[in-house]
Amino acid sequence: AARSPGYSGRHAPVGEREESPVSGRIWRRALVTGGAGFVGSHLCERLLEAGTDVVCLDNLCTGAYTNIAALERRPGFRFVRADATDTRAIRTLPGRFDLVLHLACPASPADYLRLPLETLDAGSTGTRNALERARADGARFLLTSTSEVYGDPLEHPQRETYWGNVNPVGPRSVYDESKRFAEALVTAHRAVHGTDTAIVRIFNTYGPRMRSGDGRAVPTFISQALAGAPLTVAGDGSQTRSLCYVDDTVDGLLALVASDETGPVNIGGEDEITMLELARRIVELTGSRSRIRFVGRPVDDPGRRRPDTRLARERLGWSPRVDWTEGLRHTVGWFARAAAA
Ligand code: NAD
Repeated sequence: AARSPGYSGRHAPVGEREESPVSGRIWRRALVTGGAGFVGSHLCERLLEAGTDVVCLDNLCTGAYTNIAALERRPGFRFVRADATDTRAIRTLPGRFDLVLHLACPASPADYLRLPLETLDAGSTGTRNALERARADGARFLLTSTSEVYGDPLEHPQRETYWGNVNPVGPRSVYDESKRFAEALVTAHRAVHGTDTAIVRIFNTYGPRMRSGDGRAVPTFISQALAGAPLTVAGDGSQTRSLCYVDDTVDGLLALVASDETGPVNIGGEDEITMLELARRIVELTGSRSRIRFVGRPVDDPGRRRPDTRLARERLGWSPRVDWTEGLRHTVGWFARAAAA
């Protein structure tokens, strides 16, 4: 399968520009909001490797400077500590961008439950600010939306045409509705101002640089297994997720920006696994003696989740390439090294 049209990423020597065979556009300078987070830091790295200069704007509310510390030594990278909801901070960033990638938003349940109002602000004011900057600069804009817009889905697998099943006053609503509002904002901005926008709906992504305490299943299970503690599986562990390794997700994001598609486009893994299978596989991969402990299931936790990725395959030539055992092995290795450091 083709991989990231126009963006061979890590294989492109720094400093050389690649032209996209899809759109013929060349990205010289990108603004990445939320660039010090898990997905954002991998994205910044890939852009730099492909020869795009990067300004990473992040308030570090859930991200970490250590994620991008190594990038600061590279030419073409700049870190700005600021809030995406600060209109002036975004408007006055010097220079011109031809790509604005808006990732800034708390993303793990533990984070958005701790930061509910900030999460709504990131989706509303933060998205508006990033859109205005893209419009002012004539840049291509990407919103990283989420599979959570489908809520607890009544359709399976989820296609982009499905409208979702979200409880607007449930505990997860701050995140789900923030992203649904952000999608509406992006759509309106394109209609009113002709802004060159794209929306990606990312499904569960995992990999190095997730935080062990962020409450998501993969880092939680790996940290528990490495510590020899019981793996806490919610409910009876029969709920499913489809995991996507972060390199594949970043490929999908870059393939979408290199295309002329507006989205929304699903990007995610297609191998659906139960949380119990995931926990058992992590115990195996870590060689841990940990047991499984079943704990209460969070309110509104979706029962099943798997993307229909036909659109990404057909329009972007994208498909996930890293199988989950291989991806988990890399991730376990990273967590083990981080714990030992
Ligand atoms: P993350 O928490 O690691 O990264 C989010 C980053 O945004 C952090 O560095 C945080 O400090 C920053 N941030 C938050 N609010 C901000 C604000 N107001 N101003 C400036 N910076 C701010 O999460 P992630 O997993 O890397 O997610 C990145 C994006 O991808 C998010 O928009 C998220 O909704 C989306 N997404 C991620 C997944 C996934 O599985 N990781 C799935 C679906 C969607």
